[in-house]
Amino acid sequence: MTIYQNLIAGEWTGADAVENINPSDTKEVVGLYASGSAADTKNAIAAAKAAFPAWSRSGIWERHVILKKAGDEIMARKDELGALLAREEGKTLPEAIGETIRASQIFEFFAGEALRLAGEVVPSVRPNIGVEITREPLGVIGIITPWNFPIAIPAWKIAPALCYGNTIVFKPAELVPGCSWAIVDILHRAGLPKGVLNLVMGKGSIVGQTMLDSPDLAGITFTGSVGTGKRVAVSSIEHNRKIQLEMGGKNPMVILDDADLSVAVEAAANSAFFSTGQRCTASSRLIVTEGIHDRFVAAMTEKLKTLNVDHALKTGTHIGPVVDERQLKTDTDYIEIGKKEGAKLAFGGELIARDTPGFYLQPTLFTEATNQMRISREEIFGPVASVIRVKDYEEALAVANDTPFGLSSGIATTSLKHATHFKRNAEAGMVMVNLPTAGVDFHVPFGGRKGSSYGSREQGKYAAEFFTTVKTAYTLA
Ligand code: ADP
Repeated sequence: MTIYQNLIAGEWTGADAVENINPSDTKEVVGLYASGSAADTKNAIAAAKAAFPAWSRSGIWERHVILKKAGDEIMARKDELGALLAREEGKTLPEAIGETIRASQIFEFFAGEALRLAGEVVPSVRPNIGVEITREPLGVIGIITPWNFPIAIPAWKIAPALCYGNTIVFKPAELVPGCSWAIVDILHRAGLPKGVLNLVMGKGSIVGQTMLDSPDLAGITFTGSVGTGKRVAVSSIEHNRKIQLEMGGKNPMVILDDADLSVAVEAAANSAFFSTGQRCTASSRLIVTEGIHDRFVAAMTEKLKTLNVDHALKTGTHIGPVVDERQLKTDTDYIEIGKKEGAKLAFGGELIARDTPGFYLQPTLFTEATNQMRISREEIFGPVASVIRVKDYEEALAVANDTPFGLSSGIATTSLKHATHFKRNAEAGMVMVNLPTAGVDFHVPFGGRKGSSYGSREQGKYAAEFFTTVKTAYTLA
């Protein structure tokens, strides 16, 4: 089998490799991917540092053309890349193709943004002096990504980094190197100069940690667990480095008595179980007011019976497998914890056998949960959700906000008053009215508050906040 290698200083390199396994069929090896060393990582950082002066002064047209070419190729190959994504991560083929299209759109968006770079010219408070405010690239950016969006998250970090003139050392998650390799290959062939984008696949404890320890990274943009995010933060203070962290969520979906029941069930089922619940914007706390509670639980249970859990590539699959054995154990451990804590298992909870050996788990719904239980406070990151019964809107809002996290908050209601109040008072970076907590646009800010996020927002034009540094220049007229 060929080894998909790392890209360092414009050269494909690396002989040590690990197998990329399909979670829908653990007998299938998706490919062999290089596993980089600390020395590889240091070489990649040095290459990115050497490439920075020229790339930071490259023309905006050059950046536009490369980003546009990448976006076009990803779109043209959406079915093939979508299938690769579904095979390595386990989300269903339609979701995987959708995510691939999203990656293409992100490159197209930042291809446009490259042409729209602008500063400000303002008068000085002193006569005969002009003031210019410009944005300059930061330098070498470290990009560390998780396994749950193998193509979209790399895209939404790589595209703005290049658009604003930074160079990159990119370390994808060990479980899903395939899509990352593919977009790096596409960008490399699109004409990026040597060393501008370096790919080092491999272990977090080796490649990632070497990046954290480097004084040469001007910024790190990270999506992953709270624990690793904290390590990124602590190491970055020491190196006076800018950071952008997207970590966990424990997103609430509030369902009020006046909700349209079918809208509420669609939003809740999507939020909790699509993508196997493996989204940081997934909702695992369904906060339901008394008057609709029993009808909602009955309708949700009926809905869950219709969802097929199966091989990600099979037509008709709604929910693919859990990503790997370790995550499956986490999910089943939390199901046991939920039972012990006294929540009632209303649906699911069991592993399922399918034609191929994979990590298949039923969508699992608890009822009679309280917001103090561990299943309501800790991120599970699997197809496991709990219904928390509340008296009224005021209690629902209080429970929704009673969490260490603050990424996305949803509400199902037909009341303009409650929707408006919720939008203003939900302690979250993103609020969804009559929509699932997950599912966002690519041209507007993405990110959260409290324990979910740190630093400025990702995506859309707000990405410039992280990927540039502002300069104020004064000139005597
Ligand atoms: P998860 O539990 O979802 O895998 P992690 O935070 O462990 O979340 O992983 C997110 C990313 O961080 C992955 O690319 C992983 O390899 C990387 N990572 C893990 N440990 C470290 C570390 N010590 N330093 C830097 N990156 C790391």
